[in-house]
Amino acid sequence: MINVENLHKSFGELEILKGISAQIASQEVVVIIGPSGSGKSTFLRCLNGLEETTSGKIEIAGMELTDPKTNINQLRQNVGMCFQQFNLFKHLTIMENITIGPIKVLKKSKSESEELARDLLKKVGLHGKENNYPDQLSGGQQQRVAIARALAMKPKVMLFDEPTSALDPEMVGEVLNVMRDLANEGMTMVVVTHEMGFAREVGNRVLFMDGGYLVEEGTPADIFGNPKEKRTQSFLAKVL
Ligand code: ADP
Ligand code: MG
Repeated sequence: MINVENLHKSFGELEILKGISAQIASQEVVVIIGPSGSGKSTFLRCLNGLEETTSGKIEIAGMELTDPKTNINQLRQNVGMCFQQFNLFKHLTIMENITIGPIKVLKKSKSESEELARDLLKKVGLHGKENNYPDQLSGGQQQRVAIARALAMKPKVMLFDEPTSALDPEMVGEVLNVMRDLANEGMTMVVVTHEMGFAREVGNRVLFMDGGYLVEEGTPADIFGNPKEKRTQSFLAKVL
């Protein structure tokens, strides 16, 4: 589903991603861990075309992102993304937040889009919130709306960038539960998180990034139980 070859990304003189290669299979859940500033967000943003790459190759959902002929908007429809800050449209209702993409981009009818939105709201446990505005919802609820909004575009891959980092602790579980359900349904997911419990339980594979390099990867059991690299060991010693 995702093939990344020797990806480099610089901002000006500063090289942030220093040759990342990774393959992610359909239905796989890959968790990315690593210290702050290691390039995790930049990597995810490259995967859905929010950042232009400096060199290397990215293929995702059958499209070559790094080919200038690729329609980036079409690619983004296949790649849903959820951020730490939920980025909902504050002046739109929950229903409008979820249906705007299907109506404006996918050209679906309003009634079809609303039916889908109601199904998705049920799925994320927010049945009945259709007419509320984002600031009438808790952070955990808003993040679940953000997930529903991304799913409304029927993506083939979902990227999550620290989806629970901005939440009060009691709201973390409800968001992780929605993500766990999604994983169980076979969604291909790339998740940057500090939730090591989630990584262990839901991740099929864990990638450890540091300093713009993919330092080590393996199963959760490998990475958490038997990390090989010094940098992985010292990071885990701090966070576990
Ligand atoms: P992480 O998500 O692992 O914390 P980031 O990908 O956000 O790391 O950032 C990696 C490095 O890239 C940081 O040093 C950050 O300051 C730098 N960086 C990120 N975005 C930009 C940008 N738009 N311009 C310049 N530097 C950036
Ligand atoms: Mg980040």
